Amino acid sequence: MSKEALKKQALKTIDEKADEIKKIGDDLWKIPEVGYREYKTAEYVETQYAQMGWHYQDKLALTGSKAYLKPKKHTPTIAIVGELDSLDIPTHPEADPKTGWVHACGHHAQVTAMLGTGFGLDAVKEELDGNVALLAVPAEELIQMGFRNSLREEKKITFMGGKQEFIHIGAMNDIDLTIGSHSSGSLKGARLGTGGTENGFIAKLVKYKGMEAHAGDHPDEGINALNAAMLGIMGAHANRETFRDEDHIRFHPIITKGGEIVNNVPAEVNMESFVRGATVESIKNANKKVNNALRAGAMAVGASVEIIDVPGYMPYHRDPWLDAVLRENCLQLEERVPIGGHSCGSTDLGDFSCIHPTTSLEMGGITGNHHHRTYQIVDKETLYVLPAKALALTVIDLLYDGASKAKEIKEKFNPVIPRDEYTKFMERLVD
Ligand SMILES: [Zn+2]
Ligand SMILES: [Zn+2]
Repeated sequence: MSKEALKKQALKTIDEKADEIKKIGDDLWKIPEVGYREYKTAEYVETQYAQMGWHYQDKLALTGSKAYLKPKKHTPTIAIVGELDSLDIPTHPEADPKTGWVHACGHHAQVTAMLGTGFGLDAVKEELDGNVALLAVPAEELIQMGFRNSLREEKKITFMGGKQEFIHIGAMNDIDLTIGSHSSGSLKGARLGTGGTENGFIAKLVKYKGMEAHAGDHPDEGINALNAAMLGIMGAHANRETFRDEDHIRFHPIITKGGEIVNNVPAEVNMESFVRGATVESIKNANKKVNNALRAGAMAVGASVEIIDVPGYMPYHRDPWLDAVLRENCLQLEERVPIGGHSCGSTDLGDFSCIHPTTSLEMGGITGNHHHRTYQIVDKETLYVLPAKALALTVIDLLYDGASKAKEIKEKFNPVIPRDEYTKFMERLVD
């Protein structure tokens, strides 16, 4: 069959299943779960794999899974990624009333588009070389660091991000190229977007220890850990003018514990933060300054501080050749496909992008801001169905004709980190 005929067939299949795909999006929206806790979501996704008769592995990095459209012997393998996790934003009107969890970053739409892509490609897979793996990955949002650190201490995970963990456990060893997706509020009326880069970061847990004492009677006997933390934050602020514009540094701490009882001097204060930047070098430099400032806060009042730095995500660079194929296919569906600039946000697709060619699709269909109470889905065709089409067409291009395009892109790629050195490389980041 010609490539154009295969593309037509895939589009037809996705159109026929459009209602089913939208229902998946609706269903997933209703079961938001935060990272490394996506048990219901995982079960839902795996039920879909089973219904399609796809062979799959489950419980990867606790809740992740990987389904193959064809037997594993077919290579190269292109992974389509869907992130399983939601956010915790209790102020969102549609947040789960019990947990406060909500898909205000739209990751449920990625999983929906991933499954829709699988449906479309399943209809033409025998005509394609190579293989397609659907990757349902946990924990993209690096939140609830205390909980994740306890998972690390229990040796249930090594990394706080799901894709990092996928690399670490070897789940990416048989993947040659990766394509992700993300909803976007910056498409200015367009329905699909491509291109752009993102910051990477180091994550940190900060624990200030002081001494409790009666806050009214004997503050002289106390050591105020909250004052230490506030001075630490102020010290970091005093460094901001030293951060170069082009490095896009971000430091945005939260205090997760601010003391014990109101009539005592706070004895223990816990913070979480990232230090983000556009390059590994700039992140490391800024991180050093931030840590000095945080320590100075403790020193100023005689408290102590423990800083636990953990590897965050690598800066994200889309593979230009893979992105070009994605873009070409978006333009077959839409007249206007904006190209993204640099985002100071981060994604663990950045880590994938260091080990093999990676890109991702930006999808419209939402209104409001990400991570915000205004985030809403307004166009399910655009958010759930159209991305499946763009991704399916892209994969057909890559795997047609002996998978020549996929092989060529793989050949041209220069890894920032050799895959088998990933864990060591990341651990060295926070030495
Ligand atoms: Zn997010
Ligand atoms: Zn997101």
